[in-house]
Amino acid sequence: HVGRLADAWGPIRSGFIDCALVDLSLPDADGLEGVDQLTELAPELPIIVLTGRDDLDLAIAALHRGAQDYLLKGRVDSGLLSRAVRYAVERKNAEVALAHQAMHDALTDLPNRALFLDRLSQALAGTRRRASTLAVLFVDIDRFKVVNDSLGHAEGDRALVTLSKRIARVLRPGDTVARFGGDEFTVLCCELVDPSECIAITERLLEVIRQPIDLNGAQVVLTASIGIALGSNSLAAPDELIRNADAAMYRAKEGGRAGWLVFDDEMHKRAVERLETEVQLRRSVASGSFM
Ligand code: GH3
Ligand code: MG
Repeated sequence: HVGRLADAWGPIRSGFIDCALVDLSLPDADGLEGVDQLTELAPELPIIVLTGRDDLDLAIAALHRGAQDYLLKGRVDSGLLSRAVRYAVERKNAEVALAHQAMHDALTDLPNRALFLDRLSQALAGTRRRASTLAVLFVDIDRFKVVNDSLGHAEGDRALVTLSKRIARVLRPGDTVARFGGDEFTVLCCELVDPSECIAITERLLEVIRQPIDLNGAQVVLTASIGIALGSNSLAAPDELIRNADAAMYRAKEGGRAGWLVFDDEMHKRAVERLETEVQLRRSVASGSFM
């Protein structure tokens, strides 16, 4: 028991607190401020508001701000309190699991596209402040469909999980790898002193991906193509960087060998031209210009 919110951080940080019961009239936190501070500094800690204020709107607001329950002082006995604590802990666990699911890929447990975009946006804001460079790598496994078609989807899934672990092991602390979709992984390399650092990481990635994977007793060798987009001092939007890395990956794949390419503006021009040609061809077919 502590009398001020400020005194709660020590015990909370020690990791032995299972649930916080918080008053709404603390000397250093008035009203829901205490709930806000707790959810911000200890996002996984279950919170029960225990207050003398019998106010339904306030109770609902507390739940919206992250509390798991709202109890009134003087109307709580030990039975009710212990049930409320158990309930709050279970509810918080479920909330944390849901929040994790929303931001991670179910198969590999890597960050998903949404979380990757979020991290990339934050990192881009950082490069503007610190004038550092970042790189987005777009990794796509070559002819992955063959694994599914020959060994089955379950073995294909196992290959993706193995690859995701290998990729994660190559990265430096602070870098992010996400499963972007299907057989595509995206990597965010932050705080590059020199762009050549991300080339070294790229080559290391290609190397670990190439190591044989044991699938159903067969030693399967997979290769990947990687496109790189650099975000040095640029005002590039996150999705633009990813699109550029994807375009470079596509070009690397077109090159016909496992490898990598760094995006340049020429690639963007070619990608736009390719799309325009495709649209025109479709129109021509639809209008019967081709006989
Ligand atoms: P490419 O060399 O052009 O990359 O050919 P690819 O066969 O790898 O084809 P592509 O990258 O266009 O498509 C990815 C394939 O990955 C399509 C699908 O069969 C497979 N795939 C996508 N998601 C999953 C998944 O969750 N599990 C499994 N087992 N396979 C998947
Ligand atoms: Mg592929």
